[in-house]
Order: sequence, then structure tokens, then C-alpha cells
Amino acid sequence: MILQTHGLTRYFGGLVAVKDVSLSVAPCQVHAIIGPNGAGKSTLVNLLTGHLKPSSGQVIFCGRDISGLAPNVTSQLGVGRSFQRTNIFPSFSCLENCAVAAQSRLSHSMRFFRRVEGYAAVRARAERALELCGLSHRAQAPAGAISYGEQRQLEIGMVLATEPSCLVLDEPMAGMGQEESAQVVELLRSLAREYPLVLVEHDMDAVFSIAHVLTVMVSGEVLASGSVDDVRCDPAVQEAYLGDGEEVY
Ligand code: ADP
Ligand code: MG
Repeated sequence: MILQTHGLTRYFGGLVAVKDVSLSVAPCQVHAIIGPNGAGKSTLVNLLTGHLKPSSGQVIFCGRDISGLAPNVTSQLGVGRSFQRTNIFPSFSCLENCAVAAQSRLSHSMRFFRRVEGYAAVRARAERALELCGLSHRAQAPAGAISYGEQRQLEIGMVLATEPSCLVLDEPMAGMGQEESAQVVELLRSLAREYPLVLVEHDMDAVFSIAHVLTVMVSGEVLASGSVDDVRCDPAVQEAYLGDGEEVY
């Protein structure tokens, strides 16, 4: 397993946003997390990446306990959390944005003692990241001038520039139109061949077509977890979240 949680719990005052969540992500696996608003999905993501500290429980990444480590440390270790759009520098080109992200993963020796080689490495990473996220043709465009959908693709590119071992994406298709979503679904499908992926997503068609494992959260707790087919057929899931019809779409 590349990423695991054991009994992960997070309180906000008296409210338990994530309660006793234990899950595992295997290499080359897409693990989707679904659930209604307020179910605790984003809190769980923040616990995985160190943006929030757990009240109890552990996060194990590549065999190492990373619970409560700061986000820059988890990023250095290889947990690739998508940057929010607010992390994009609008006046920098798409390539420069990826270069800034790539730079954040370089060791200090690369940053301070080997500037020229360091720059070449950063540029190579940034170019590869742009290619992977499908924005090579936008390399020189200011990030503020590309479409909303492309900016969200750029966020993914910026994560890829950090050369992660695992991707954690919280609603990468939020706010997109159908065409843009379809493009990102294709992108996620191609990334899934290379990276283990934790995907929080509302778009059920997308989830069912990409995910291998599905965890359903309700009120901070795991209601069901397993293969997509098993979870879709789980009567408790159908009743509590997906509706109780035969078809769960
Ligand atoms: P989801 O992403 O599934 O919509 P969240 O993880 O954002 O759910 O929220 C889960 C619960 O925790 C909600 O009741 C939300 O109001 C609460 N919550 C989330 N973040 C905070 C916070 N920083 N402070 C207080 N309560 C929070
Ligand atoms: Mg959320």
C-alpha cells in the first residue's frame, strides 16, 4: 500500500468531521471518495496532506508515519496535493507556474549551489508536467489568460511538476462545463496509469468510469468501501446516498 490511514479522526470543537477512517490506496489504484456535502471529504484530504492535523489516528505514506507533518514536508516526500487556483500566479506563464512548483521539490543543494543545472532540471520538470496535463500549447500564455478549465488543468500540472508518488485531488472538475470535464476525465484516466490517485469527486459518471475502489463517507464516517461494483450495489449506500432505485446514476 502506498497510502493508508488508521482510525483517522478530526474534531472541530464538538463536531467530528472525520471519524475513525481507515483506508488504503494501492500502487496504480484510483481510490475515489464520495459523499454528500459536509461528509468530511475535504477534511480527510487535508489530513492526508498535512493541511490539518488529526485529533487521533495515523496517516502512513510508503510505510512512513506522516501524521501531522506540514504540507511542504508531505509534498517533499511525494504526496501530490493539487494547488488551489489561488496558488496560480496569473501574470506568470503556465510554464513559469509549473517551474515554481517544480522548484519547491528541489533540495537545498540544487537551489543554492548548482544554479545552472538546477534551472535546467526545473525547466525539464516543468515542461514534462505541462505535457502530462495537456497544456504544452499554452506554455507561454499567462496563467490568468487561459480558460477556467485550463487553469484547473494547470493546477494538476503544478502538482505533477513536484514529481509526486501519489496524487490527491479534491474535486478537480468542480465548476467545469461538460466539455471541460470530459477533458479532465481523460487526463485523470491517463494519469491513473502512472500514479496512485485519491480522488474526491461529485461527478458520478466520472467516478464510476475512473475509480477502482470507492469509499462512501457520510457524516464523517465510512459508510461503505470496496470495489466500485460492490459499493454501487450496497443497499446501505443506495438508501443513504445514491437513492434507492436500481440504477445509481
Ligand atoms: P466535504 O468536503 O465532504 O463537503 P468538509 O470536510 O469540508 O466536507 O466538512 C466536514 C464538516 O466539517 C462540515 O460540517 C464542515 O462544516 C466542518 N468543517 C470543515 N472544516 C472546518 C473548519 N476549518 N472549522 C470548523 N468546521 C469545519
Ligand atoms: Mg469538500
